[in-house]
Amino acid sequence: MAYIYDDQNIFAKILRGEIPSKPVFESDHTIAFPDISPQKRVHILVIPKGPYRCYDHFVTTASDAEQLDFFKSVALIAKQTGTSEAHGGNGYRLITNSGPDSHQEVPHFHVHLLGGETCGPLTAS
Ligand code: 5GP
Repeated sequence: MAYIYDDQNIFAKILRGEIPSKPVFESDHTIAFPDISPQKRVHILVIPKGPYRCYDHFVTTASDAEQLDFFKSVALIAKQTGTSEAHGGNGYRLITNSGPDSHQEVPHFHVHLLGGETCGPLTAS
């Protein structure tokens, strides 16, 4: 089945400037902004600028340049937020939801970077 990208999703509207956001990071292919409903003291959403629905859509169809930019950006944001252990922080958790079983709410690929306090057990039902 082909991936279908709905360009009316909230993150697409943020990328087009139709919904306000306060980016904390931007590169050629990636942008990051705080989650509107933070679950931890640090809760940043990292999204590619391109139209990808979920993780597997991104890694199977985005260009190498987009993918490298995205994953390096996540590390830079961990450093920037003070959560990276390599830079004096206490660690962070990355989460990406893909599809209905994961409870993905916004169908534009994104990674949640959570930290600034302990994240607790890995899963909740
Ligand atoms: P998902 O469940 O798709 O992995 O996560 C989507 C996230 O987007 C949720 O944590 C939700 O709080 C966040 N979110 C939804 N709408 C907005 C918005 O308009 N602005 C921002 N900054 N975050 C949003």
